Amino acid sequence: MDLAKISATVLSHGGHPRDYVGDDRIPGPVMPILCVPTTAGTGSEVSAAAVLTDTENQIKVGILSNYLRPRAAVVDPLLTITCPPKVTADSGIDALTHAIEAYTAIDNAQFPLPAGERTIYQGKHPLGDLMAEKAIALIGRHLRRAVADGNDLDAREGMSLGATLAGLAFSNVGVAAVHALEYPVGGATHCSHGAGNGLLLPYVMRFNLPVREREFARIAELLGEDVRDLDERAAAERAVVAVERLRSDIGIPARAARTGSARKTSCAAWPRRLSASNASFEPIRVLSLWRIWRASFKLPIDVLPILCERYDMQWKSLKYTVKK
Ligand SMILES: [Zn+2]
Repeated sequence: MDLAKISATVLSHGGHPRDYVGDDRIPGPVMPILCVPTTAGTGSEVSAAAVLTDTENQIKVGILSNYLRPRAAVVDPLLTITCPPKVTADSGIDALTHAIEAYTAIDNAQFPLPAGERTIYQGKHPLGDLMAEKAIALIGRHLRRAVADGNDLDAREGMSLGATLAGLAFSNVGVAAVHALEYPVGGATHCSHGAGNGLLLPYVMRFNLPVREREFARIAELLGEDVRDLDERAAAERAVVAVERLRSDIGIPARAARTGSARKTSCAAWPRRLSASNASFEPIRVLSLWRIWRASFKLPIDVLPILCERYDMQWKSLKYTVKK
């Protein structure tokens, strides 16, 4: 689907895919894009994003533009029946990450955007919350089953709807630190986007928990946790535990070293540091690793640092300015 989006862009406006990497760089409408997903995950069938790997520089890059939103999407769960368990797991946890990141993102009113920069993301808002909540509940209920038995049509249906709703949520609200960190991790380790996100998600949830207690408590409930006798903080923590349990049940590793083999790129030290830190991975270390990565990741693509700078700001704002 992302390849179709990029092909439509280059066929309509010429140039090289690299010319459009970043936010809102496509100058006008592209030829109509029709998307038919065969996994339940990326939400690309409704999103304004296309993610591709820059093989020269071994990094993943994103193109964001509302011109990339498909004209039509045909979401048929029957087309996901033959999706193998690992792809089902990786794409499913990606969809859950989209929904959780959208649900816990920075508020719309506080969305930080440096002067002169444009973005298609808007920050957390009520309509995004509606879609994200439904997506989290659907994915929580159906992902294990879809991985365990690919022919479970009820589970496939729940996942297809959940992933598309998550796509609608994140493509308007935004994704945050998990995705920002996954780009370099995925580029360096060649793990799938979903496995990288699944690996990072609980760490970032813990990091963001103090400023999003209410949302995480609700996520725990949506994931089927019994939080009736717990205070908000304890209920919120159950959300992280529930995601860790789900991740382990569907076979997503908890350590970077097991998601793929590290490549000799300029960021090859990153996955080693990540896995070395993993045993006693405190939330604050996510931020520390992030800073280490940012300082050491010097590649001749100017857009990635810009994207990351923005996510970093979003992250800091979450930490320092969002009131409980
Ligand atoms: Zn994603």
